[in-house]
Amino acid sequence: MRIVLLGSPGAGKGTQAKVISKKFDIPHISTGDILRHEIKGGSELGKKAAGFVESGKLVPDGIIIEIIKNEISRGRSKNGFLMDGFPRNLEQAVMFSDLLEQLGISLDNVININVSKEEIIDRLSRRRICSVCKGVFSIGGKNKEPEKCPKCNGDLIERKDDKKEVIKHRLDVYESETRPLIDFYAGKGLLVNIDGSGEEKEITKRILEVL
Ligand code: AMP
Repeated sequence: MRIVLLGSPGAGKGTQAKVISKKFDIPHISTGDILRHEIKGGSELGKKAAGFVESGKLVPDGIIIEIIKNEISRGRSKNGFLMDGFPRNLEQAVMFSDLLEQLGISLDNVININVSKEEIIDRLSRRRICSVCKGVFSIGGKNKEPEKCPKCNGDLIERKDDKKEVIKHRLDVYESETRPLIDFYAGKGLLVNIDGSGEEKEITKRILEVL
């Protein structure tokens, strides 16, 4: 099973990807997670990517395509993969199609998770990551704000690119660069739209129904 998850930042791609990749026993390939890992580790790749990621800009396509080539040539991707956050613009999508063709494989589904802009801004500004277990949590809202990770008691931190001014830029980048992929994959007959509002479990159910 080879799947691409599309959707704006904060649409819930990462959360859904974790459940679906487990269910189908395929690797969850998140270019954002890979880049954050490289940045944290201080690698050459991380140094090149840091400024782009922290300001909400897209990392150059050449860097991203190398990451993807590397990931899909690994043995763990032989039964499929789930892409989260890639492709992010038309150039990447075309390079990805060419790469898959060279490998003699094709995508099964492109799932587009739709959430309103108001809900996205609310979700991203409340999103916190556990510095220890990397779990993703939402602060504020109806419940009392958790100061520590409810799972492992680690400190909850805000991603640098979830700060208000960067969120706005990321959403603009999504509109101009990534949204056109919806038409690109619809034209290939691969696109399925999913309503991404509501409870996580409900959204998973909607996705599983179409896979
Ligand atoms: P994400 O975790 O998917 O929201 O990605 C966080 C940041 O990593 C983005 O704002 C970009 O700076 C960078 N990034 C992730 N995936 C890509 C990609 N496919 N192309 C370019 N930049 C990316």
